[in-house]
Amino acid sequence: MTKKRTYLDCNASVPLRREARAAMLTVLDVAGNPSSVHAEGRHARAVVEAAREQIALLVNANPSEVIFTSGATEANNWVLAAGWNAIAVAGIEHDSVTAPVSASGAERIELSVATNGVAELDGLSEALAASAEASKRTLLTLMMANNETGVIQPVAEAAALAREHGVMVHTDAVQAPGRIPVDFAALGLDALSLSSHKLGGPRGVGALVVRDGVELPALIKGGGQERRRRGGTENISGIAGFGAAAEAVANEQDAAQHMAKLRDRLEDGVRRATPAAVIIGKDAPRLANTAYIAVPGKLAETLVIRLDLEGIAVSAGAACSSGKVGSSHVLEAMKLGSEIARSAVRVSLGPQTHDDDIAAFLAAWEMVAGGAALAA
Ligand code: PLP
Repeated sequence: MTKKRTYLDCNASVPLRREARAAMLTVLDVAGNPSSVHAEGRHARAVVEAAREQIALLVNANPSEVIFTSGATEANNWVLAAGWNAIAVAGIEHDSVTAPVSASGAERIELSVATNGVAELDGLSEALAASAEASKRTLLTLMMANNETGVIQPVAEAAALAREHGVMVHTDAVQAPGRIPVDFAALGLDALSLSSHKLGGPRGVGALVVRDGVELPALIKGGGQERRRRGGTENISGIAGFGAAAEAVANEQDAAQHMAKLRDRLEDGVRRATPAAVIIGKDAPRLANTAYIAVPGKLAETLVIRLDLEGIAVSAGAACSSGKVGSSHVLEAMKLGSEIARSAVRVSLGPQTHDDDIAAFLAAWEMVAGGAALAA
């Protein structure tokens, strides 16, 4: 008999919500291209526009500000490729931010990171003022919450500083919706990246929300889709699933409290089974769904493999960069030392997580990490 699986890797991908699945199945049979003028084309167009409204509602933006992409990696690449002379950025950003920042050749204004995982804004005002004074096209990019630690970043404060100096501001909000409020308008942002599969929508679709009036040259050039901002026939079933997932998230009332209770129970159990465990980012504001646990002396990849054999899916560091486990640039930026970095396991809950998932995790954890069960 195959073992029941317990999926606790929602910062990598949230299982498809039933609303998203239903929306996608309906749309698979829509024949038209959204750019065509006939009835089939208009039907496809209506699907795209309905989803645009659902996503705009989730993040408090205008529908005209939502531009569909192939995911958040494209959205981040797009905003970072817009010819900046200087970019203010912290070392904890996702690879889809750090790699294009490096490739851009822009001067890097480095935000330091505290050991609890929060990016620090000391000196930022002066650096942005100097950059603006030198007439450099400057962008500030700061993620809303980190995908490894779950630590929430001071985006509102950073955006206020950026605005003071006339600097553009972008946030990678991929890990935020459904976990913390996301209000594009109130934050005064210029651009915000979203990914469908982190909301329980399908993979391979996302959006860049761009404030009305902000000029951003197209990254993907082609037909005149997305009001000439992103070429390529729209992935209408993906977009429909993304929209349905966004609406489901927007209508969820107490998902964050539910996950926080379960996460706290999980961390209490971990501390009992492994008293030496360090909860990374514990004293910082954190997403309710994320527990990042290091047990000095144990190897993260061994723990992840042994947990997998026990039916538990979690990850070591960022799943997106698995294969190079142990070299988390986030933990490096936090200067927590190699002992912690080598042993850090991320457990991330979702709206579908229940008590019995936590119980299953703790039973397996006790077995693979507790006592003298494992030598590094
Ligand atoms: N940004 C963050 C914070 C992420 O966690 C991820 C995915 O892991 C991405 C960007 C990339 O998103 P996508 O998979 O849609 O390209």
